[in-house]
Amino acid sequence: MVRPDIPDADAVSAALSPATREALAGDFPLLIDGRFVEAASGRHGTTSDPATGRDLARFAMGAAEDIDRAVAAAARAFEGPWSRIGNFGRARLLRRLAELLEANARTLAEIEVLDNGMPLILAEMITRGNVELLNYYAGWAERIEGTTTSPPERILAEGDALTYTLREPVGVVGQIIPWNVPLSMACLKLAPALAAGCTVVLKPAEETPLSAVLLGRLILEAGIPEGVVNIVNGDGAEAGHALVRHPRVSKIAFTGSTEVGKAIARDCADDLKKVSLELGGKSPVIVFPDADIARAIPGVATATFFLQGQNCMAGTRIFVHADIYEELLEGLANHCARMKIGHGLAPGTMIGPLISARQKQRVTGYIEDGKASPARLVAGGNAIEGEGHFVEPTIFADVSPDMRIVREEIFGPVMAVQRFEGDQIDDVVRLANDSVYGLSGSVWTRDLATAHRVAGRVRSGHVSVNCHGAVAANIPFGGYRQSGWGREFGREGMDLYLETKAVTVSL
Ligand code: NAD
Repeated sequence: MVRPDIPDADAVSAALSPATREALAGDFPLLIDGRFVEAASGRHGTTSDPATGRDLARFAMGAAEDIDRAVAAAARAFEGPWSRIGNFGRARLLRRLAELLEANARTLAEIEVLDNGMPLILAEMITRGNVELLNYYAGWAERIEGTTTSPPERILAEGDALTYTLREPVGVVGQIIPWNVPLSMACLKLAPALAAGCTVVLKPAEETPLSAVLLGRLILEAGIPEGVVNIVNGDGAEAGHALVRHPRVSKIAFTGSTEVGKAIARDCADDLKKVSLELGGKSPVIVFPDADIARAIPGVATATFFLQGQNCMAGTRIFVHADIYEELLEGLANHCARMKIGHGLAPGTMIGPLISARQKQRVTGYIEDGKASPARLVAGGNAIEGEGHFVEPTIFADVSPDMRIVREEIFGPVMAVQRFEGDQIDDVVRLANDSVYGLSGSVWTRDLATAHRVAGRVRSGHVSVNCHGAVAANIPFGGYRQSGWGREFGREGMDLYLETKAVTVSL
């Protein structure tokens, strides 16, 4: 059995920067109307380090009454000061926020490691990505523009006419995010909404409440007016539900499970709130016999095991051509054995803990299911005993399309590998598309025609060639089928927060 590298409490504390220690010693209240406040009920939750199970910090737990205050503040800000700050003014504020994020990157990354469990090296990379994202959407704030046209002659009573379009912010937006990359989710939601001129009530996940509160402090320091961004930690069923049902909210942007996404879509249908959904995935990875195997091995392993598989775009259904099947499997198993498991702050850690005991139990249930099936276990296969929520990176080979480990999103470090034969791409594409999800996917080959043909035919919002899950500020991302509605990132990310108004003027 693998033993994760877990420093003791003193060593963890010594590894933190003084600013992080100071942040952890402080409060994690709600941000409503430009002020940090306790929940109306006075309730608190406690968040813990998933690598050790040790308590980390106490945070204010908001509920319906707090959501109500936050939405009222967002509505006032939307009609008041925020509406008078122009596109370039909003861009300046977003750039200022990006600078502050960069200046506080170390603390934010360390807080992500402690609250979420991700390895520090990833947390730092992801934090840099957030700086990029804020700057990128600052650019879009400056580029909001409409079109001009003229109506057909038949609708004009007399003379000429001109039609132009305006792009207007949707209004008060409710944003609900998961725990797997907390700070990135917050930035990805906030940046385009603020660039568009919306005001926001953000509800982070109850498992990872901390980084959003620190981001809230930077939002105020950047000079973003009070009420424009409100941050209300709390339970999904209470605070999240209240936000979704609130009549003054014009749009909900949700990232999370497909199950909750469906419930939110149903709730939004009642008053036809606009809604965008980034949901689950079970993405295919197709490796052709001419692939560069030395590159494919770490690439495929990362596709599955990045963030311990707690990653919506994880490539977890691996289709490998028979000619290279055993060679690739052996390479993947060796790669797994070399990935260091431990606390995110322990040097060299590549695999951290899962988010919670519940998630560990869920993932272990899938692994037991795989072990009881005819699939062949070639790596891992165990939960690691102890206080932390660790599970070994696990690979099942010889899986078949009907198995639960192939059909259902596990959201953990479990890879399911199946063999395909022949040189027709039709069969493997059919297998790859046999899923209710369609979020990501990758194809590994040296043949340009195969790469483009397969990329065009995989029914997913995002397909990579000889890499996996290359998301960035300027690359649109979102799901086909039950992986969601709408696209985030890129120019498309702005469309989620803008209405188009056509104005016709008879001259
Ligand atoms: P979850 O759906 O349980 O929770 C996500 C958020 O929704 C949390 O903030 C939670 O408090 C809130 N919530 C829960 N019930 C609610 C309700 N009834 N009304 C309103 N809000 C509610 O998901 P999770 O377990 O936190 O996250 C894992 C899931 O997220 C996975 O399925 C994963 O694929 C998905 N995910 C998708 C993307 C993407 O971009 N497509 C990214 C990350 C995670």
